[in-house]
Amino acid sequence: MKKCIQCGAIMENENETCLECGTKLGPALTEEEVQHLKKAFLERATKVEEKADFFYVSKQDKIVSVLLLCGVVMHMLLLYTIKQVETENYRLLVYIIMIWMTVEAFNVVNPKITWKIYQMRFSLKPTEPKELHAAEIALHLRRGIAFVTLFAGGSFLIFRVLHLFI
Ligand SMILES: [Zn+2]
Repeated sequence: MKKCIQCGAIMENENETCLECGTKLGPALTEEEVQHLKKAFLERATKVEEKADFFYVSKQDKIVSVLLLCGVVMHMLLLYTIKQVETENYRLLVYIIMIWMTVEAFNVVNPKITWKIYQMRFSLKPTEPKELHAAEIALHLRRGIAFVTLFAGGSFLIFRVLHLFI
């Protein structure tokens, strides 16, 4: 592993120049330096965890989660009651929507799962500060993504119900 002296990006040993800023890279870091870097990075990640607003699960989040699960059940009911009119591709689309809604139903009330996955990644390989920033954005956007999922899944459900009568 090499660290760019110009921008601080972490690069693989085989890289001669920094892929972020183009600066020529020096010698590889020692094992001790790599361990130090990993530790520093995890400490920073822990500080993010202490920012409770990223992890706060509001009543609204719980309602969205329940609505998403209800949507999945309704989609499933429609799938098994009107299956004779649905094509294979249509079924596949319904399955994808159902899986997407289920994942979001859990994600919106368990932000720590997303965070643990990022932390596991941090502990395997020390990475650039922007990766930590990406993790924060992912946590920050989780409510918005759950809303979009609810809107998309719900609209599709309404479309399917209307389709029964037309
Ligand atoms: Zn650089």
